[in-house]
Amino acid sequence: MSKRPTRPRKQADKEAAAAIPAADIRLPQTGGCQCGGIRYEITELPRFAYACHCKQCQRATSSAFSISMIVVEHGFRLSGIEPVSFERPAGEGRSVTRWICPRCGVWICGGKKPGTAAPDALRWIQAGTLDDTSWLRPMAHYWTRSKQPWVTLPAGDQVFETQPF
Ligand SMILES: [Zn+2]
Ligand SMILES: [Zn+2]
Repeated sequence: MSKRPTRPRKQADKEAAAAIPAADIRLPQTGGCQCGGIRYEITELPRFAYACHCKQCQRATSSAFSISMIVVEHGFRLSGIEPVSFERPAGEGRSVTRWICPRCGVWICGGKKPGTAAPDALRWIQAGTLDDTSWLRPMAHYWTRSKQPWVTLPAGDQVFETQPF
């Protein structure tokens, strides 16, 4: 498996390289937090799904990696109680905002405050919060330099030592 360079790549490259097979996904998809206070609906096909093996995702999930999917904002609708934000620096002057259920603490999504992003903006959703994850399969792996040594990456997946985009 080859290590890819970490230079920025075009959105189209990213989608072409690792699109989710549309036939496997029924719409709408639904999901939410553990307590049920926050629910969401996805009405557009997710464009991409990846696993992040960074130390902060390991900490946030108490697991080896997080799984995120990217959905265009107009295809994502959050309902229920208002999530609270947690922001942390992500290096190179960037920061990452996480939206979390204030009652049960589940991390639902990233990006701008839900309901305030432009319709064509991209929304990062924590894919483990889906009601049905049977179709979910990350096709890229970020931050593999902090990957747990016992995690074996599937052949053919895209592998990035750090943050590729
Ligand atoms: Zn909750
Ligand atoms: Zn991460």
